[in-house]
Amino acid sequence: GGPVIIVGAGHGGYQAAASLRQAGFSDRVCLINDEAHLPYQRPPLSKAYIKGSAGPESLMFRPEKFYADQKIELIAGRAVSIDRAGRKVLLASGETLPYGHLVLATGARNRLLDLPNANLPDVKYLRILDDSEALRKIMASKTRVVVIGAGFIGLEFAATARIKGLEVDVLELAPRVMARAVTAEVSEYFQARHREAGIRIHLGVQATSIEAEGGKVTGVSLSDGRHLPADLVVVGVGVLPNIELAAEAGLPVAAGIIVDEYLATADPNISAIGDCALFASPRFGGSLRLESVQNATDHARCLAARLTGDSKPYDSHPWFWSDQGDDKLQIAGLTTGYDRVVLRGDPARKAFSAFCYRGDRLVGIESINRAGDHMFGRRLQGMDRSITPEQAADESFDLKSALA
Ligand code: FAD
Repeated sequence: GGPVIIVGAGHGGYQAAASLRQAGFSDRVCLINDEAHLPYQRPPLSKAYIKGSAGPESLMFRPEKFYADQKIELIAGRAVSIDRAGRKVLLASGETLPYGHLVLATGARNRLLDLPNANLPDVKYLRILDDSEALRKIMASKTRVVVIGAGFIGLEFAATARIKGLEVDVLELAPRVMARAVTAEVSEYFQARHREAGIRIHLGVQATSIEAEGGKVTGVSLSDGRHLPADLVVVGVGVLPNIELAAEAGLPVAAGIIVDEYLATADPNISAIGDCALFASPRFGGSLRLESVQNATDHARCLAARLTGDSKPYDSHPWFWSDQGDDKLQIAGLTTGYDRVVLRGDPARKAFSAFCYRGDRLVGIESINRAGDHMFGRRLQGMDRSITPEQAADESFDLKSALA
């Protein structure tokens, strides 16, 4: 019993608070929010928000009234330390909050570029609403952007910048875009699509310096000796999980805050969810740290259920999406550790799915403009079923029959 204090009011923190109330939790719920906005959705920050002119309100999960009605105390501030023996969190303001249960939903922060001039105002990152606002504002007066990193966020931003009329170069150290996250087939498709849109993609290269004159960026030098002119640099080179608060309280951390399959840390009164959590996964074997809305919200729901008496191991199936230009990528399952990829549909027709198999087991599906395949994949996984690679490749095979 006792109050639940949630550190971090992002996707995971917000959902944990909302789900606790939904499940009838009646004690105090505090959501510690270190951003100067009501809790909001992050995905549009690199997509629609950059493109459009809608204000911050368009991103909010809920209006202020919701928190008052639900008796969710939104506390502006930052948690700076945890007194585990005394079960209290200390805020930067000096305030202490006693907890019955503490939820760490601290998310992740951008990995910063360690290059000369990387802290100039023309070098931007994308993680929080203020980043996206600043970028949208500054873009209006810029003509050439170099995007460092061809992950989801870098490519989403690149596509948007191109649509807005900027010259766009993308740098990627790996031999293909989104190399850690998707199959080679999907990388190739997106490389071709972005190039068709006029984006120059440079693979197997690194930025070695950012040039500037009078505090204004003039270009980026590459590891292969080339130099690209630019008046804006956008960096998307991954994130670091926010584990320091947990580590300083003596909780075990590695590539995330270590939690068991119930999302509990080594301290039974403290749990961690979302991007910051390295969780034990019996289903996938070993530990996982995922960065997705699905992961953060499903973690939050699982934890809220446990804290209201319905304790079950976390076992949701991962899914993800990324919008790049006119193309919608959706991923069901975890497309890692596969040894065979079967295509359904036709990349030339801009609609296909890559079915990924380990042996004869379907581990995940990457769909491009094939929402039906994606939903099929999620339902199939929910039933713990598979279809054969031959069935996947055969467009005349009726997917629905596998769900019956
Ligand atoms: P976050 O949402 O990062 O929230 C953590 C919060 O905790 C932050 O507000 C942080 O400031 C705060 N915090 C940290 N430390 C403290 C402290 N000590 N005290 C108080 N507060 C603290 N996922 C998808 O599935 N699909 C997408 O298309 C997609 N697009 C994305 C686009 C962008 C630009 C970004 C940045 C992310 C995107 N993601 C997407 C990923 C998704 O947004 C994250 O996985 C999700 O937000 C994780 O939720 P979280 O609650 O774990 O962390």
